[in-house]
Amino acid sequence: MLGKMMYQPLTISSVIEHAGRYHGDTEIVSVETAGGLERTTWGGIERGARRLAAALERLGLEKGDRCATIAWNNRRHLEIYFGVAGAGMICHTINPRLFPEQLVYIINHAEDRVLFLDKTFLPIAAKLGDHLKTVEHVVLLGPRDEEAAAMVDGLKFYDELMAAEGDDYRWPELDELMPSSLCYTSGTTGHPKGVLYTHRSTVLHTVAGNQPDGLALSAKDSVLPVVPMFHVNAWGVPYITAANGSKLVLPGPGLDGASLVRLIDGEKVTIALGVPTIWMGLLAALAESGSTAESLKRTVVGGSALPPSMIPAFRDKYGVELIHAWGMTETSPLGTLNQLLEKHQHLAEDAQAEIRLGQGRPPFGVELRVVEEDGAVLPDDGVSQGSLQIRGHWIVDTYFKAEESALTMDGWFDTGDVATIDADGYMIIRDRSKDIIKSGGEWVSSVELENIAIAHEGIANAAAIAARHEKWDERPVVVAVKVPGADVSEQDLIGFYDGKVASWQVPDRIVFVDELPIGGTGKVLKKKLREEFGDILMS
Ligand code: AMP
Repeated sequence: MLGKMMYQPLTISSVIEHAGRYHGDTEIVSVETAGGLERTTWGGIERGARRLAAALERLGLEKGDRCATIAWNNRRHLEIYFGVAGAGMICHTINPRLFPEQLVYIINHAEDRVLFLDKTFLPIAAKLGDHLKTVEHVVLLGPRDEEAAAMVDGLKFYDELMAAEGDDYRWPELDELMPSSLCYTSGTTGHPKGVLYTHRSTVLHTVAGNQPDGLALSAKDSVLPVVPMFHVNAWGVPYITAANGSKLVLPGPGLDGASLVRLIDGEKVTIALGVPTIWMGLLAALAESGSTAESLKRTVVGGSALPPSMIPAFRDKYGVELIHAWGMTETSPLGTLNQLLEKHQHLAEDAQAEIRLGQGRPPFGVELRVVEEDGAVLPDDGVSQGSLQIRGHWIVDTYFKAEESALTMDGWFDTGDVATIDADGYMIIRDRSKDIIKSGGEWVSSVELENIAIAHEGIANAAAIAARHEKWDERPVVVAVKVPGADVSEQDLIGFYDGKVASWQVPDRIVFVDELPIGGTGKVLKKKLREEFGDILMS
């Protein structure tokens, strides 16, 4: 042998162990579901995670078993992130805003054995009840609660499970390629699809996503992830803050501007992360409260396109730097982050802001390319526009339980976004080839909206598109063709959605046309409809 370096598997338990050992007294602040602030430390989270792992094993759970959460960003949810994965099980985070049928589909498809719930979501669990085929334990995130116990048969209580365990649990040795968490994303067609992250992909994302030109979170930061922990692992922030010993501030259910201002000022938050809609609420609340958000230095904005006015709005009045990022559930999520290069430093502020409006460039560990429809790779010249494809250490290969890889023949993942890339790697999203609609960071399935419209007896055909919206970035608009002679109004059809989808997924407008534009392959040309009706909601 010529010599050898150590090999240690890249595991999530090693991340939380580090946080507990070297940042044990760094504070974790959590807004509780019942109200009020709770304070613990990384040391407390590490001990809590081990207790939870022990409790799950006592319930009979084994490595590879899925444990679902429907929960806000809070202390117990954080312990679950590390406890479940650290024990070799899979933490399946679920978006509570999904419609009941979707929740049932996802939980059954994932075969979740445990369902952890914040009290807010207890009515959902009570309603889903018998439809959940695999759930053996429903656990309320809190102390014993008789009112809750009356709602769900056999309900267990997180605090009681934890109290029954000691501090002696030791993390098992795990293979770094074992799955650690699972998150479903709405597909353009059919059912939601699960992305199964591994310990290795998560740890590499944690390290590479936090380079100086990445998120750059440090032990001096107080970090507020407003991005939900059910949305792509809160963009990796729980792992990154643990690895770097940052103070973590978890906002619980209060995501309105005024609550965020209080939290930012009270906890001296230096960096906050979330979708544009959240920052719009924050800007309004700051103006109203008179706070200058003194401590806040940076906000990271992603999930949908950054409105241009937001950069100066934060910069000029509050001295806050806005960092635009792009990613997807399939990419863990960090794909690009927008930080300037040395050659941009001398540019005027507005010229810099112009560059920063784009989605940014990839960190080491992922590569991007744009391709034509026939798969020919386009040059990185900043003008050639094509389908955006990505590959790297934390990018999906095969969806959960899918039989085939989701990749192209030569191993890239097609994002469904349409983009340009320049010679420095700066990527700008120009359009979306997938039809799905993204409202305030949450998906609305166009297929579902179309199926409902078409089910109306007065409607012959319908296409749902994403229309630009000042507050929500995008909102659904349905373009519909009536059955000849049918007497159906816009209000009739909007009313027809009642009870069939969640209220926030109901289309804002219905536009009636004589016919839909159809392309060569017989598909509705949504791009054309977006060009025609995409601005219908803008004032
Ligand atoms: P999700 O899987 O819910 O994270 O959604 C991923 C999709 O959101 C991407 O494929 C884009 O279409 C969109 N998206 C995410 N970040 C941005 C951004 N910064 N600008 C524009 N669109 C974005």
